[in-house]
Amino acid sequence: MRDVGVVFLMYHELEMPGRPMARNEPGYMRYVVRLPDFRSQMELLQRRGWRGVSVGDTLGAFAEKTVAITFDDGCESDLLYAAPILRDLNFSATFYITTGFLGKPGHLTQSQVRELSGLGFELGCHSMNHPYLTDLNDTDLHREVAEAKVQLEQILGKGVQHFSCPGGRYDGRVADAALKAGYRTVATSRIARNFSTSAPLNLGRVAVMRSTSAETFQRLYQGHNLWRMRLQVQIREAVKKLLGNSSYDHLRSILLRDRSS
Ligand SMILES: [Zn+2]
Repeated sequence: MRDVGVVFLMYHELEMPGRPMARNEPGYMRYVVRLPDFRSQMELLQRRGWRGVSVGDTLGAFAEKTVAITFDDGCESDLLYAAPILRDLNFSATFYITTGFLGKPGHLTQSQVRELSGLGFELGCHSMNHPYLTDLNDTDLHREVAEAKVQLEQILGKGVQHFSCPGGRYDGRVADAALKAGYRTVATSRIARNFSTSAPLNLGRVAVMRSTSAETFQRLYQGHNLWRMRLQVQIREAVKKLLGNSSYDHLRSILLRDRSS
């Protein structure tokens, strides 16, 4: 039997006109998808006979014509905008929560996280304070991966099995910490489809960006031309390595500012 490759889509906050965003700097807004675009993307999947599923669903069966839908950060738009659209289409999804953001402007509250879970969606952990995990010492890494898991489990009253890496920063130490903490999977920002044979502690994901056109989205969810996106990222990573994380972020903010002005 052919091993089916499933794309894991990565979303962040969704923008509803007239409603303030959790953050609004250009680097953040690049990942904020407009609500009508998100709706069109989900409806396109359904029209084509595809189904949006959670990470846990995917692990259960890497099925043809399925795409895993994931959201990072725990924004309020998860519950207010994404959930109703997904439910209308009978799709599922995994929402990764940054526990330290709960209750902050634009983010879910503890009771809203329970509400999402109660609607049948899968909840995962996206650290406590959203640092780049690869920059942390052992104590801080443990807090962000293991203690954040316990925190979220206490809020939900049930186990949390899935983790996603803030800013996509990932290495072997992160995988070890997640394994020790008892996670079943770690989702990264490595641009790749996942197969039943893929390492569960290093699952690829493909970001849907604000600028993702309908044409690009059609290639994306089917896993077409991912090599091209990978190449762009490799070039970016090379620059990042040359500069270090903080200089890179600084440079990026200057470049994005110039572009948007
Ligand atoms: Zn994040």
